[in-house]
Amino acid sequence: MRLLLAEDDQMIGESVQRGLRQDGYAVDWVRDGVAAEHALADHDYDLVLLDLGLPGKDGIHFLEDLRRRQNRIPVLVLTARDAVADRVRGLDAGADDYLVKPFDFDELSARIRALVRRQSGRAEPEVVIGKLRVNLASHGVFLADLPIVLSAREFSLLRALLEQPGVPLSRARLEESIYGWDEEVESNAVEVYIHSLRRKLGPEWIRNLRGVGYLIPRQS
Ligand code: CA
Repeated sequence: MRLLLAEDDQMIGESVQRGLRQDGYAVDWVRDGVAAEHALADHDYDLVLLDLGLPGKDGIHFLEDLRRRQNRIPVLVLTARDAVADRVRGLDAGADDYLVKPFDFDELSARIRALVRRQSGRAEPEVVIGKLRVNLASHGVFLADLPIVLSAREFSLLRALLEQPGVPLSRARLEESIYGWDEEVESNAVEVYIHSLRRKLGPEWIRNLRGVGYLIPRQS
């Protein structure tokens, strides 16, 4: 289990990292919001411990951007600001829980366990093929854990292909799956969206069987 700790206070950072390592967690400690984003892009974490008052990019903005990218990693906010407004803002921005400093380490440890438990017990509305992960509920698309931003049409096309990986769908079928009956369709619309999906995901993810249609491979 790997945790990301974003905290610029040296003493708190050291003691939390030391304590959590003793609890058996791998803990990566970063001291500003930008470094936290880079760490998240490069590694898989199970939870983020987030100080709100961070240099570079403050915790609230980090959190808002994280959730905007459909990243649902549990976030436990650590805040020195014992103001109700800050806690509310943190929770509204997508935090799962918070602790006000100074906090008792045992309480921190217990809250982390509770969040991790809740996370693992959650039903995952996800399709996973190799490095591609698509959340059909949130519309989050991740390739090797990096978020891929798709337009609504692109996502719709991808979802259609994901319903039966390995099975080719004709252009007409795809057209039906992404357009309502009352919407005007450009004659080459499917090709255009296939092209942009390939550009964003990589060409290997969507194959063309000439004269048959398009498919997403069962495995990659
Ligand atoms: Ca701080």
